[in-house]
Amino acid sequence: MKFIESADELRAAIASDQPAQACSCALGSCAGWESLAEYRWPQQQMTTVGTLRDVEQYEPSFEEYHPQGTRYDSPDAPVAVKFFPYNRCEVWHCSQCQRHLLRYTEFGGYNVDHRVRMLTPDKIVD
Ligand SMILES: [Zn+2]
Repeated sequence: MKFIESADELRAAIASDQPAQACSCALGSCAGWESLAEYRWPQQQMTTVGTLRDVEQYEPSFEEYHPQGTRYDSPDAPVAVKFFPYNRCEVWHCSQCQRHLLRYTEFGGYNVDHRVRMLTPDKIVD
């Protein structure tokens, strides 16, 4: 999978001629991070664009980046590619609504929790 290393690379990777539409698929809006069970993930219409996870790094940082006082699940939180949880995300494209989405897995206790957030270029920062 293609490793996307910077904000510029991420913006380039999701640049598209087809404008994103208001969500028409099962994903929901996901403006901020949302839990999305595996069975709700519409795999057939999703393709991977790349990953923000550096495989050379054993454990990516858990540090978050919120210079404007946002929180983890704020819809307007920046997508800071080197910070948690973006540094462990895969980037996906939905063929139905043309949106790009970030996804990672939260491992806690006995269960795994898939988290999904819509990706828009204006939120991406280094
Ligand atoms: Zn969609």
